[in-house]
Amino acid sequence: MIHINENYLKIQASYLFTEIAHRVSRFQSEHPDAKIIRLGIGDVTEPLAPAVLAAMHRAVDDEGRRETFHGYGPEQGYAFLRDAVALNDYQARGMDIAADEIFISDGAKCDCGNIQELFGADAKIAVGDPVYPVYVDTNVMAGRTGVNTDGRYANLVYLDCTAANGYVPSPADLSEPADAVYLCYPNNPTGAVATKAQLQEWVDWANANKSLILFDSAYEAFIRTPGIPHSIYECAGARTCAIEFRSYSKTAGFTGVRCGYTVVPKDLVAYTAAGEGVALRSFWTRRQTTKFNGCSYVTQRGAEAVYSPEGQAQVKATIDFYLENAKLVKDALMKLGYSVTGGDDSPYLWVDVKGDSWKFFDRLLTEAHVVTTPGAGFGRDGQGYIRITAFNSRANIEEAIVRLMRVLG
Ligand code: PLP
Repeated sequence: MIHINENYLKIQASYLFTEIAHRVSRFQSEHPDAKIIRLGIGDVTEPLAPAVLAAMHRAVDDEGRRETFHGYGPEQGYAFLRDAVALNDYQARGMDIAADEIFISDGAKCDCGNIQELFGADAKIAVGDPVYPVYVDTNVMAGRTGVNTDGRYANLVYLDCTAANGYVPSPADLSEPADAVYLCYPNNPTGAVATKAQLQEWVDWANANKSLILFDSAYEAFIRTPGIPHSIYECAGARTCAIEFRSYSKTAGFTGVRCGYTVVPKDLVAYTAAGEGVALRSFWTRRQTTKFNGCSYVTQRGAEAVYSPEGQAQVKATIDFYLENAKLVKDALMKLGYSVTGGDDSPYLWVDVKGDSWKFFDRLLTEAHVVTTPGAGFGRDGQGYIRITAFNSRANIEEAIVRLMRVLG
């Protein structure tokens, strides 16, 4: 008799976005004429940059000629893209990261989820609350947690991310020692950013404790405030304690195309039970070459074009557009008296609704026909908040603002 992995049974039954989709489709079927505006799921709306499109068209043509055809590529990614990443995202910004420390993938979600395979079953994991659910659920599936009671799993270490700490916890907030911590800045869902001093504290903590930082910088391209770090490797000592995840999804509209990468420095070690250091880069190489067959050639050519001068200007213009959307909604909500975090260096607004998340979600859905995300879906500390995304057309954003003013004004 085949047994199931019972850890899957511990996972909270109602996945947040499934529940939202259910409520939205029920409302839409009861009100077929309602023009619903979706500011819920964090998917982009603007098309790919022309420079990316042109590169992908050329790559498709490459695949159509025997001389330029590409079959299986290197599992870690083509050298042309790894070199471009190391040079543009790191070395040109003063960070010591080499091309062979970059692992190209089909997006940050898989990498954020798969990375925990490298750690022992007894690894103590710390996460923020509220949190991007992938970090939590993949550790639940792997059996590192107990059951969920009142919205929290036993054996995970939760770091409260609240207005009191500006949504950026510090190592002093750890209720018990942890072997690894997931940090995500600019943050999903709160939109908060961490200063260099705040990240440096985590790096110093990790190095002092032989712990690991799993740094998700999927939204770094939205940072506009000078001095806010785009990468954990801006902090001294991060090469010996941090893995970084990046994605072209929000940077360049690749949510459908699929490409991202993970940085695993050669200096990074984790330990055997006997205390012997093992390079995590060799483990990640083994994991990827065994279970992953690489991101497509056409996609990687598209990602490479993001770094061309035209590509850089075009993706920046699109992100500026989303940031302007965020500013418009944020200003409107603040005029209405709401306290709002995020939106300055992030596509997310985290709104204190001074009441129940799901009730507020339902009110906006039924009265304004605007879909948001209830903060409670991201963790216990998300109760009392909703997340609004800036991903939409300007016309829809303006219409959503009119409706919000009418319903909440
Ligand atoms: N990390 C965070 C914090 C995200 O919000 C997302 C997507 O929403 C991802 C990773 C996944 O990105 P990708 O599309 O590259 O899988």
